Amino acid sequence: MRLEGIHHVSSITGDAQANVDFYAGMLGLRLVKKTVNQDDPTVYHLFYGDDAGSPGLDLTFFEYPGARPGQAGQGMIHRIVLRVPSEAALDFWSGRLKGMRESATSFLFSDPEGLGLELRVVDVADAPLVAHHPEIPAAFAIQGFEEVRAYTADPERSRQLFEAALGFERDGGMSWSVRGDKRGGRYLFDPAPAERGVPGAGTVHHVAWASQDSDQVAWRERVIAEGAHPTPVIDRYWFKSVYFREPSGVLFEVATMGPGFAVDEDPAHLGERLVLPPRFEQLRDQLELTLTPIHAPTPARR
Ligand code: ZN
Repeated sequence: MRLEGIHHVSSITGDAQANVDFYAGMLGLRLVKKTVNQDDPTVYHLFYGDDAGSPGLDLTFFEYPGARPGQAGQGMIHRIVLRVPSEAALDFWSGRLKGMRESATSFLFSDPEGLGLELRVVDVADAPLVAHHPEIPAAFAIQGFEEVRAYTADPERSRQLFEAALGFERDGGMSWSVRGDKRGGRYLFDPAPAERGVPGAGTVHHVAWASQDSDQVAWRERVIAEGAHPTPVIDRYWFKSVYFREPSGVLFEVATMGPGFAVDEDPAHLGERLVLPPRFEQLRDQLELTLTPIHAPTPARR
């Protein structure tokens, strides 16, 4: 039983339209599901990914309109690393985005609300997860998650849960590989800053690890055996979820690979309309009045 890398990463935005403009318009990801937060259906939950909405490249955002800016600190993820295939791709992105070329293989940047992002050239056999976009040559497109980096003052206290329960393989220092049959990713700790973390716009809410559908209950039992306190299995409609906090404070989720975003929409038209899980359908009229209107991204300014 192995986790298939990073399933999705969920973060907070205060401005849904600016979020669409950046992730769909600038980064060229596809908005694959426009729905509401199932724990608070008055706010959006937006999902961006490859054309198929695959686990392995799924950046999701809860919109709290006007949310104050947050700041990553102890027990929070502070950077999401995305794969690109070549240095030529990094050259393209360094011309398109404001950021810093950290090395020949790494480009650091932030989203409009300060969420830390990195594009990294990675040589890996995992199938590329690509969204097609008119301004982005397919050969340069983002290909999936590589890593998330979190802050902690004491990585040792998380190690037992990672290695004994979740099958993370330490690859030196404070970094672990998480690899299944088809995909892999990495989890890395950096020393926590002195300032306290503040949840808010531009911060990560949780990271989800991808589970084979039939393994999820066993993962839940394994983390209980190592002292974590997971939620019951929650049906998120497009996948099933179990949440728990790892000992350094980062909220983890183990999410099933299936059934996926095409279960209730035509795969050719994912994300074009507000989709509600059946139990929220009765709220549609109200939600269509109160949710921030969003439209397809405006073409990038040059
Ligand atoms: Zn999640």
